[in-house]
Amino acid sequence: MVVKVAINGFGTIGKRVADAVTAQDDMDVVGVTKTRPTIEADLAIDAGYPFYTAIADRKQAFVDAGIEVQGTLDDLLQEADIVIDGSPGKFGQENKDKYAAAGVKGIFQGGEKHDLTGVSFNSLANYSESFGKDMVRVVSCNTTGLCRTLYPVYKEYGIETVYAVMIRRSADPRDSKKGPINAIEPVLKVPSHHGPDVQTCIHDLNIQTMAVKVPTTIMHLHSNIVELKQEVPSEDIVKLWENTPRVKLVDGGKGIASTAQIMEYARDLGRPRSDLNEIAVWREGIHTVGKVLYYYQAIHQESDVVPENIDAIRAMMELEEDNMKSIEKTNNALGIN
Ligand code: NAP
Repeated sequence: MVVKVAINGFGTIGKRVADAVTAQDDMDVVGVTKTRPTIEADLAIDAGYPFYTAIADRKQAFVDAGIEVQGTLDDLLQEADIVIDGSPGKFGQENKDKYAAAGVKGIFQGGEKHDLTGVSFNSLANYSESFGKDMVRVVSCNTTGLCRTLYPVYKEYGIETVYAVMIRRSADPRDSKKGPINAIEPVLKVPSHHGPDVQTCIHDLNIQTMAVKVPTTIMHLHSNIVELKQEVPSEDIVKLWENTPRVKLVDGGKGIASTAQIMEYARDLGRPRSDLNEIAVWREGIHTVGKVLYYYQAIHQESDVVPENIDAIRAMMELEEDNMKSIEKTNNALGIN
């Protein structure tokens, strides 16, 4: 069976998931949507994706810009088994109603709240909860990063409490209108929403989070302190993460001392768009003192959730019951690890 996937919202996340779907042998993109004839519409056409307008009365704007439009979102839904909703956050409820009316499954992103679907997704932590489900939310880039490193530690050694500080990029690289550009801005809602969001995937994890926005566009950085249920040598945590999919240990000693050098490394790996789908964890920063684990990790916000969207399709469409098999299949197709 080849699953027919629609991409509603061909932006930062949508265009990456579209290419990741195309790289798999058990799913295919049947069309993508946008609301405006910007350059990404041209790129979608050049990539060979059937193009639809997300908003029916915008069709003429595409025609005027010389962009061939196959129809509206409603037409695209007739062609699809499942939709990746890559629209900006908060369109979720409206779009979910449209997908449900068309009898099509929907995957939403981290800009939507858990309540929209009642099921949130991380490939490692709770894949089976999405098996056969109709509406699922893939958690945000930060929550995905926290789940990727914390879940194996939680399973292997047990966790009393996590204290995590998110040092967040202020905007994506193309968002030239957002800031701050010369300030550090604490998120004054304490604790931040990230802790409860992790609990939508790792339900009984005790986690407290705070967040700070800084003037950078290229990655988030997490500074994490974890109280474990037992004493664990640092080397054992290193080994655990060496064997965890979508976690990449990086070395300050080899010149990767900042997020800038991680992104240079991603460029050198030759990944599409210079993406780093894995969570980068500094090897030297992994340190345990008695039962307390300290570590830093960096999140490429535009790309870490992309492989999770692929696994979510497999779970919801019941293509693969075993999360580790889906992770391996996705990773192989995308050249991860
Ligand atoms: P984005 O780059 O702004 O892309 C959004 C896309 O949706 C654009 O192509 C836009 O098209 C289209 N769109 C606008 N209104 C729409 C509508 N009513 N229906 C369908 N499509 C519409 O946003 P993004 O960064 O990809 O974010 C998408 C979701 O992923 C959000 O929930 C976000 O929180 C989440 N997310 C983002 C990141 C990140 O770092 N960017 C990371 C993880 C999760 P036009 O340009 O034509 O208007």
